[in-house]
Amino acid sequence: MTQLTQFAPDIYRLRLPLPFALDHVNCYLIRGDRGWTLLDTGLHTPEGWQSWLAAFAELGIASTDIEQIVLTHVHPDHYGMAGTLQAWTHNTAPVRMSTATSEAAAVIWRSSAEDWLDETSAYLRRNGLEASFLESVLQSMRAMRAAVRPHPEKVETFAPSDEVYLGNRRVQASAAQGHADDQTVFYDPADRLIFCGDQVLQRITPNVGSWPTTPAGPLGRFLTDLSRLRGLDVGLALPGHRSEITDFAGRIDELLAHHDKRLTDIREAIPAAGATTLEITRQVFPVEKFNIHEVRFAVAETLAHLEHLLETGQASRDETSAGVWLFRR
Ligand SMILES: [Zn+2]
Repeated sequence: MTQLTQFAPDIYRLRLPLPFALDHVNCYLIRGDRGWTLLDTGLHTPEGWQSWLAAFAELGIASTDIEQIVLTHVHPDHYGMAGTLQAWTHNTAPVRMSTATSEAAAVIWRSSAEDWLDETSAYLRRNGLEASFLESVLQSMRAMRAAVRPHPEKVETFAPSDEVYLGNRRVQASAAQGHADDQTVFYDPADRLIFCGDQVLQRITPNVGSWPTTPAGPLGRFLTDLSRLRGLDVGLALPGHRSEITDFAGRIDELLAHHDKRLTDIREAIPAAGATTLEITRQVFPVEKFNIHEVRFAVAETLAHLEHLLETGQASRDETSAGVWLFRR
């Protein structure tokens, strides 16, 4: 049985499995006069690929029926099967993404994990993580690279202001920052519908982290774009995980309140004598219950909040002679 749900005469959601705690990703199939648009693709696993084939069979979609494959952002659960799906169309369907996402994909996915050795170890050291983390980080980077292959051969890019069609829907593409660098959301004002990627999710809060490749201030950029999206007239939001959202503005308010509280908690967790990112993370997250990957996400999330406190003058930062950051308030 496939995991297909219909939301409009031309829109289906396909729920694909993921081998993570967050065990699925939502992809969308949008029917138009020129063929089908696939929005996001899933991580490349045998189970994920079988899900696509089952959905195509159920909807009667042949490989020649795919008009285009469009991506919201560069994360592996969204980018991962773009190349596999394109190959299935005999490379006739272009993979379309924002220019910035395409550049990020080249930097992140077409490099080897080892290319990032220096940046990664400097990042771990700055944030108080032990060098023993390095091998497991590299291992997961290698595994992720394997799960996004093959890469698409034929990539077309768009700028956020360009006119984009998803099926017959003329949508406004706009950049939504913070969760991923230059994520794109697609808004159809005529139908009060938005494909919001991972910018707004139901029940879980989108991860906003500061990683070795993240440009400065991800949380500030995330909050700014959330506030902007809140102004849109939306009746139905279709996100990258979990269920559809009918109270889009209300959910955004909850996310804004969540980060407000977390900023307060993190500011209060900074001791007068100063502490490392990891030490502050321990005060806010139950790190002792986390596996090594969850620790990294918690540290990246804490760091994003600490950076925001720095930017807004609510904390300061020194660097020790060993290259470790110490935050003070
Ligand atoms: Zn995702």
